[in-house]
Amino acid sequence: MKPLSPLLPGSTSATGQQITLGVMGGGQLGRMFVQAAQALGYFTAVLDPDPASPAGLLSHYHIQTPYDDQDGLAQLMQRCDAITTEFENVPAGALFTLGAHRPVAPSSACVAIAQDRVKEKAHFVQSAPTSGVQPAPYATIDTAELLAAAPADLLPGILKTARMGYDGKGQVRVKDRAELAAAWERLGRVPCVLEKLMPLRAECSVIVARGADGQCVSYPVQKNTHRDGILALTEVYEGAIEATLARRAQAATEAIAHQMNYVGVLCVEYFLVDDGRGGLDLVVNEMAPRPHNSGHYTQNACDVSQFESQVRALAGLPLRSPVQHSPAIMVNLLGDLWFAPNGVRAQASEQPVSPPWAEVLALPGTHLHLYGKLGARAGRKMGHLNITGPSVTAVRETAARVLALLGLPGLDA
Ligand code: ATP
Ligand code: MG
Repeated sequence: MKPLSPLLPGSTSATGQQITLGVMGGGQLGRMFVQAAQALGYFTAVLDPDPASPAGLLSHYHIQTPYDDQDGLAQLMQRCDAITTEFENVPAGALFTLGAHRPVAPSSACVAIAQDRVKEKAHFVQSAPTSGVQPAPYATIDTAELLAAAPADLLPGILKTARMGYDGKGQVRVKDRAELAAAWERLGRVPCVLEKLMPLRAECSVIVARGADGQCVSYPVQKNTHRDGILALTEVYEGAIEATLARRAQAATEAIAHQMNYVGVLCVEYFLVDDGRGGLDLVVNEMAPRPHNSGHYTQNACDVSQFESQVRALAGLPLRSPVQHSPAIMVNLLGDLWFAPNGVRAQASEQPVSPPWAEVLALPGTHLHLYGKLGARAGRKMGHLNITGPSVTAVRETAARVLALLGLPGLDA
């Protein structure tokens, strides 16, 4: 169900209740959705079982039940005029239930595609005639017969679980058939896809926002650097990604969204690989049916952030084509930093220590976003830092100083 007319900010519904936007999941993405919704004057509700969830701590209402709890879902529907999700692993059945009674964007059907790599790749293949991009060569592995029949030219490859993978979890790199068989065993013989290992030259992603009326707007293309399977850095400025490829990636992302009649914010990740003719080609990797870590720079470098676009799409407000007003670099802040101030790794038993924020924030164009998570742990996403400035040179210089202060590896040349 879609709103017939926009849910206007700061207004009241027929029952006299303040217009309230809901989100399934209370992590950092839910928190930034809540912040954007509240900035526009909406009330918010979060469903997340964790009493200390980053979004629950800020929201007007926090329903603390499991995602498939019928009573929790009923409370969310009763509170909310429209509902979105902050992660793809929310049970699609729960969104389906909500969608029968309230506008839900993205729909349970779109989330079901994005949460299963087998369906996701099939969607990419089906979209290829209009998107112009293909996924890496792959095969589905969900039986011993399909394991034995896996094409030899997919090796060396990466075996990925079809469901529940994130930040490089649920993936094993395999060189040969023996390693492939052992990896499938290790992953518990669950449905997987085996993907050919691609010679990546770079990675990028594109965020689009699409309304219920089919209007679609694209954000600038993000160049991403991953470390240990987790996003480390995003750079967005002229020249980060070659302009023709960037335009192709934006058009492909819009086509992928249109093909499933998507409503909301969608991020699609791409690999850049050698095209064999001295240039680069795009290969589509995966998608997220929500704002994405690589889009956090939009908070400080664009006139409308990915979270505001998520709010607009959900509420049926006009989507505005985003304008990037500053070159940007986003640095992810993982919990490891709290145990290695200035890059000096403390003893394992030592208490976490705040990174040198005063020095970082003294630098021009630094914007700190911490998620209010209680307890730093290695690999845990604690926050991010956006760096903006008057020129690419200025932003890169500040980023180099920030990375040095935090003891992180420097930017590539
Ligand atoms: P996310 O946190 O983005 O959801 P994920 O765990 O779902 O990550 P992928 O995006 O599939 O996993 O892979 C994580 C990273 O591993 C990619 O960004 C890329 O660096 C590398 N990778 C994945 N698939 C391939 C491939 N077929 N060839 C080469 N590198 C790959
Ligand atoms: Mg990924």
